[in-house]
Amino acid sequence: MKDSFGREITNIRISVTDRCNLKCFYCMPGGIGEFAPKSELLSLDEILRVARAAARLGIRNFRVTGGEPFVRPGLIEFLGRLRKIPGVESLAVTTNAVLLKGKTDSLIRAGVEGMNLSLDTFERDRFTSITGSDCFDKVMRGIEEAMDAPFKTIKLNMVAMRGINDDEIPRFVQLTRNRNVHVRFIEYMPHGDWSEEEVAKKISCEEILEGIAALHPFEGDEGPRGYGPARYYRIQGWKGTFGVISPVFNPFCERCNRIRLTSRGMIKSCLLIEQYLDLKPILRGGGTDDDLVGAIRRAIVEKPERHTFQRNFSMNAIGG
Ligand code: SAM
Ligand code: SF4
Repeated sequence: MKDSFGREITNIRISVTDRCNLKCFYCMPGGIGEFAPKSELLSLDEILRVARAAARLGIRNFRVTGGEPFVRPGLIEFLGRLRKIPGVESLAVTTNAVLLKGKTDSLIRAGVEGMNLSLDTFERDRFTSITGSDCFDKVMRGIEEAMDAPFKTIKLNMVAMRGINDDEIPRFVQLTRNRNVHVRFIEYMPHGDWSEEEVAKKISCEEILEGIAALHPFEGDEGPRGYGPARYYRIQGWKGTFGVISPVFNPFCERCNRIRLTSRGMIKSCLLIEQYLDLKPILRGGGTDDDLVGAIRRAIVEKPERHTFQRNFSMNAIGG
């Protein structure tokens, strides 16, 4: 269905948990990322009910995220059930890859077509200081397995930060030479802490592109199927593409096609608006499937034309 500004809403991001096995400093800095009590998280069956209602409204592209989705027990079976819902045309998962190794076959069998893998560095020590964990080897093994598996789309997300990992941008671009992978550089958002020191880490999409252009000429590219917030580019003759994304300063509000379901059962029609629609009273108060459809329809109708930027947000709670 279309929202009040004529945008066809076809995509949903579903956060299945706010918990995570990493503590990336930019995602959960000092206490912002407090976890919801377990009883407040939707059960996987409740999420499937919401997904069925969303599919009835014409939402067809589903992405599952977190927190870290793989810390949620029963994830793969859930994905298989989600993919079978009539109207679901594509299913992708966003993950930090810590728990990925050994699971790609079952993910493909469950009908997952796309993997969004998050990796900010190829250096073990840096990985530890960014994520507060020593899971680097596990992550690399998970990413390698996914890259060799027959997923339709593999995207690799790197949060580019000045003085932390910006010197690795060329190495990430090199990955696109021989692999059909879509590397996406994400603008770092110093949410919560807008001190001079934090803001200095931010590199704009334009600056990232200028740095790459100084090394390789490239041209605009359509990138992977489906309209997302990234702008894509390709170095002539290379197999993959690279793109840039600003998670907050999205210049494409006028073409935004998505809504979000948070792990607590809130529909957010825009990443950064305060308003959300709580589906829990319907899910847990005896509401019907038609009530759910009606509530999601209302959230879509009320989707704002564009967001006003807020500094204080927590990615693990909203799902990135
Ligand atoms: N845990 C999974 C992962 O890391 O892929 C899924 C959830 S995570 C919140 C989704 C994406 O949001 C990740 O690629 C992460 O790098 C990005 N992200 C989190 N906080 C961010 C921030 N402050 N600025 C830019 N990107 C951020
Ligand atoms: Fe966890 Fe992903 Fe947030 Fe890192 S970015 S703390 S992996 S949810």
